[in-house]
Amino acid sequence: MSYVFNPAPAASVPVVGRTERFPVHRIYCVGRNYVEHAKEMGFTGREPPFFFLKPADTAVPVNAGETGTVAYPTLTKDLQHEIELVLAIGIGGRNIKAADAHKHIWGYAVGLDMTRRDLQGEMKKQGRPWCIGKAFEQSAPIGPITPAAQAGDVANAEIYLQVNGKDKQRSNVAKLIWNIGEIIEHVSAAWDLAPGDLIYSGTPEGVAAVVEGDTLVGGIAGLETLSVRITGA
Ligand code: MN
Repeated sequence: MSYVFNPAPAASVPVVGRTERFPVHRIYCVGRNYVEHAKEMGFTGREPPFFFLKPADTAVPVNAGETGTVAYPTLTKDLQHEIELVLAIGIGGRNIKAADAHKHIWGYAVGLDMTRRDLQGEMKKQGRPWCIGKAFEQSAPIGPITPAAQAGDVANAEIYLQVNGKDKQRSNVAKLIWNIGEIIEHVSAAWDLAPGDLIYSGTPEGVAAVVEGDTLVGGIAGLETLSVRITGA
């Protein structure tokens, strides 16, 4: 195969305990999937799950023990953090039932769904797509993927984010409105899940703005911690 120019390198994420990397296919994200976060966004109650995507090349893979960097993006004055459990898909499928979802999960990681909240809010108001608020450069930092068998009970794990050492978000994955199996059931009803897909499962309450120079440290019990610093544009 020859190309008219060199194709972009495939996005990939480090794997705990392995030299091989996890190649990224698509990045799905679940909206408003913790009650207290839905409330802080001005919504109440259990609504059907909804999804948006980020291009694979928005992933910012960060190695264990290192601090990655995210350049403050253009156009916004309100860049916000959303700490999330990420599901890494190893076996694809369509119309996967929640009870079978675990068979499709290769591993888990800690991710950040970085959001240009001011632009997202404007798009919501106008009933327009969220892309400009969600799917921008370096908007999907992710720590090393832990294979599912080594990840412990992520469905009941504490999840937190600190900015400059101070707690901003702290909750438990058990508080997901749509749980891990249900997420995979719904995503695979709408799209063909494929090996390499990442699913950001939603964020708990406490989302807030960050500025240049901030260091974000996020964790989920049983998984590698994710650390990133916000740098100048
Ligand atoms: Mn999110």
